[in-house]
Amino acid sequence: MKNTKIVTTIGPASESKDVLRALANAGMNVVRLNFSHGKHDWHREIINRVREVSLELGQPIGILADLQGPRIRIGNDTELRITEGQSVRVSDISRKDTLSASDTPTILLDIASISDALEPGHLLLIEDGTIRLSVTGREQDFALATALTDGLIKPRKGINLPDSKLDLPILCDKDRKDLSFVLKEGVDFVGLSFVGSATDIESAREAMRAELPEGMRLPEIVSKIERKEAIRNIDEIIKATDAIMVARGDLGIEMPESEVTLLQKDIIRRSLMSVKPVIVATQMMKSMTEQPIPTRAEVSDVTNAVVDHADAVMLSEESAMGKYPVETVAMMREIITKTEESPFDDVYGTLDLNIHSEYATLIRSVYELAKSFEAKAILLLSVSGFTARLASHFRPDTGILAATNDRRTYDRLALAWGVRPYLFEGDQKLDTFVDRMVDQAKEDGSLSVGDQTVVFLGRVPGERDMMRLVGIREIR
Ligand code: PGA
Ligand code: MN
Repeated sequence: MKNTKIVTTIGPASESKDVLRALANAGMNVVRLNFSHGKHDWHREIINRVREVSLELGQPIGILADLQGPRIRIGNDTELRITEGQSVRVSDISRKDTLSASDTPTILLDIASISDALEPGHLLLIEDGTIRLSVTGREQDFALATALTDGLIKPRKGINLPDSKLDLPILCDKDRKDLSFVLKEGVDFVGLSFVGSATDIESAREAMRAELPEGMRLPEIVSKIERKEAIRNIDEIIKATDAIMVARGDLGIEMPESEVTLLQKDIIRRSLMSVKPVIVATQMMKSMTEQPIPTRAEVSDVTNAVVDHADAVMLSEESAMGKYPVETVAMMREIITKTEESPFDDVYGTLDLNIHSEYATLIRSVYELAKSFEAKAILLLSVSGFTARLASHFRPDTGILAATNDRRTYDRLALAWGVRPYLFEGDQKLDTFVDRMVDQAKEDGSLSVGDQTVVFLGRVPGERDMMRLVGIREIR
């Protein structure tokens, strides 16, 4: 079994049940639905198919609904050609009809009043940063900017404003509708695009809480780190969120591309210390969108993310609209497995844990115990998933087999590094879980007779929460 998980974006190339099943068999752990595309009916259909495949194969598949978020786009109706050194006006659609006529061409942004945030020196990056402008001055209704490149500005293209203080709500109208929909469907994770601060995360969580009945478990928030502002506020974001995505596409526009790999390493390290699952995303196997084999640089990229000990690596267009979605996942799994078996995958072990509690220290000793007894696996009970994630923090050489009675926990643990979840849905006989898990693990090949394991029960059933049980157990 591989430890590093694979998140796979679903699209026209992978929407059929047969391909979904093949993807799951090839190593897919979490499905990502990109809400920048597709109608609700389509998303519902995919969610249903994924759940059927998960049941058929008896393996968890997490579902991540990735919301579009406050992406700013070009609001002009027609194309606009600019040349380096040229002056342009930058305004927004709320002023479209009131702007004074001028010989200077005008770029319109598609969000009302957004151009107010533009100050001299701020950069405007259009179409993945291939067209760049710099703000030189301000008037009442527009900013003035100079083109730093030639370019053809097309309607609807995305634009990044890395230096501007944007006061955009983290959920726009479309996101709110999408959020209502995914809450009804009961997805496991909600991706928040363009997060800038902990407040963004709190307000999204508040919006979810307001929609769900009291006491109902919220989906986990995956904060996408893709803005300069998010890098500035990285610690408060990691503290507030449930999981992280290093969204290298937009991040590489807003930050120098040469720093993206270093930022990736830094964000992974911080996430690990806080026991928050972290996904590395975008362009990992991009050439496999068209070609049946990856470039050597892409192999190196996946290897590097595994050595960084990220929880998961992600595919976007490769699996959503590429020619070889299943081959891409299979190739990713092969790279992951070989890297994890290699002596180069050993840089971990020194990372501190940000959580200082009796419980966390106990899990550290479970990990130490497993290490010194060269155990095959750690067997644990995890109702909410937290115990399993804590064990995963230590990135042990041993497997982590986690029994739960909650289907949501089961599916969410699909994202956690090294965790293999077992489900006893709705069952309250917690004291029988480890035995039954061992039986299943013997059947699926995760354990065999003679294996040493470390058993950890954080809550001994029938007793007070304070009662805990740790012990070595040989599989018979
Ligand atoms: P996106 O996010 O594909 O939704 O833009 C990922 C990224 O920016 O890397
Ligand atoms: Mn993005």
